[in-house]
Amino acid sequence: MGLRTPDEYRESLRDGRRVMFRGEWVADVTQHPVLRKAIDHAAIDYALAEDPAYRDLCTAEEDGEQISRFYKVPKTPEDLLLRMRAIEAATSEGRTVVTLIHEIGTDALFALLRVAHACDAARGTAYLPRVKALLQRARSQDWALAVAQTDTKGDRGKPPSEQEDPDQYLRIVERRSDGIVVRGAKVHTSVSINANALIVLPTRALRPGEEDYAVSFWLPLDTEGLHLIASPYLSSHRSEIEHPLSASHKMVETFTWFDDVFVPYDQVFQAGEVEYAGPLALGFVDFHRFTAVSYKLPLLDLLVGSASLIAELNGIGRAGHVRDKLAQLAMYASTVRKLLEASALTGRLEDPGIFVPDTLTVNTAKYHFAHGFHEALRDVQDIAGGLLVTAPAWDDMQHETVGPALRKYLLGAQGTAEERLRVLYMITDLAVSDLAGYHAVLAVHAEGSLEAEKLAASRHFDFRAAQKLARKMAGIAE
Ligand SMILES: Cc1cc2nc3c(=O)[nH]c(=O)nc-3n(C[C@H](O)[C@H](O)[C@H](O)COP(=O)(O)OP(=O)(O)OC[C@H]3O[C@@H](n4cnc5c(N)ncnc54)[C@H](O)[C@@H]3O)c2cc1C
Repeated sequence: MGLRTPDEYRESLRDGRRVMFRGEWVADVTQHPVLRKAIDHAAIDYALAEDPAYRDLCTAEEDGEQISRFYKVPKTPEDLLLRMRAIEAATSEGRTVVTLIHEIGTDALFALLRVAHACDAARGTAYLPRVKALLQRARSQDWALAVAQTDTKGDRGKPPSEQEDPDQYLRIVERRSDGIVVRGAKVHTSVSINANALIVLPTRALRPGEEDYAVSFWLPLDTEGLHLIASPYLSSHRSEIEHPLSASHKMVETFTWFDDVFVPYDQVFQAGEVEYAGPLALGFVDFHRFTAVSYKLPLLDLLVGSASLIAELNGIGRAGHVRDKLAQLAMYASTVRKLLEASALTGRLEDPGIFVPDTLTVNTAKYHFAHGFHEALRDVQDIAGGLLVTAPAWDDMQHETVGPALRKYLLGAQGTAEERLRVLYMITDLAVSDLAGYHAVLAVHAEGSLEAEKLAASRHFDFRAAQKLARKMAGIAE
């Protein structure tokens, strides 16, 4: 098959998955008023693959089959750059909200290919053929994938084996002749309610004695014992005019509960090989941080564009402090973009033939984005003015007597009052609303916290070479 239509995708989600929304089980996610919005949003990926304007970018050919661009295993820097542009295109269509149903799962599959290859070579396991089988199946059926990595973690100061409750990290509770039984819960699992398969990865490096926590596998979403408790964030109804970004676009995250779930061995990619838990967790984030920064690009461009547009409409485009802030915003957006491109261009080819973004550069890109995001929001809010939270409703503009007064007094330096208001509504949605809050928390936490990025970057910076230089300049011996 290779590629699916948006309707085939929607239809594939009508199975026996157990999804809860606000205390009630959802019989059919495709018919649910809130969840349906996340499904329609995700379907953008399938629509772009059919669209002549995007087909070349969003699809690729492999083994004579036309497939989603995201399933193409990167072999060169150009493959990574095309992947970046495809993510950027889908997120632009999603009005700053990433679709994620292809990106996150393929990030996990690429890491699994690398780690399964290394583990099989060192330990004599047979995981690589299973990873390849999932990749082949997901690619040819154009599956939507979710990834559950983040554990509930209990006391963050203690490793899994020292937690008061041993289930705070997902673990193997039984090994049978035909598979394993796992127990635990993962949190913040994006797009799980609207995926065809869920890939599970360990959160962190583990040590001997923690073999039951070194576990990775995949599941269909209707697997018995798997429960998806959906977050209600961003689920209130909103108008397209007052919320032009978030009215029709959202992702859904779940609390993902594995209530003693059986996993057959042919779906298992790790089961006790503690020394490969860390490499798998980190191998995933090499790719996933590349995805993360790729989907931030439309958001950053929109922040620059919004600030510059409202500055013009308000007549402050020439003010010194505004020009300074616009320059800062422009430099911020272009630094993030160029760092991301550099991470593709300076990446490395790893066994078994996968091109990986440069770890130091991609972590620096993600950190630079996350560290600067709140300041960028502040500058946009500053330039736009207080109407961001006090503007009248669009209905007021249509009122017989109030409307003309609003149209007279809400005029700025350029354009009509309606145009100015629509730009302000858009900026409110982007930089002030619950969507802005979502983007802000996403910036700090999703794909790893600021500290995780600093740690990864420090590990890959050559401090020895830098010290050698400092010693030489100081005239002291090595
Ligand atoms: C919108 C959204 C979508 C997401 N989607 C997914 C997804 O699809 N799949 C998935 O698996 N995950 C997903 N995540 C999870 C994301 O990767 C985590 O939020 C991130 O790793 C931080 O983990 P946490 O939220 O548990 O916070 P915590 O780990 O509790 O972090 C909070 C603070 O505690 C600090 N901290 C934590 N542990 C320690 C320690 N041992 N020592 C010192 N400081 C510590 C952190 O640095 C941070 O400052 C998503 C998150 C968000 C917000």
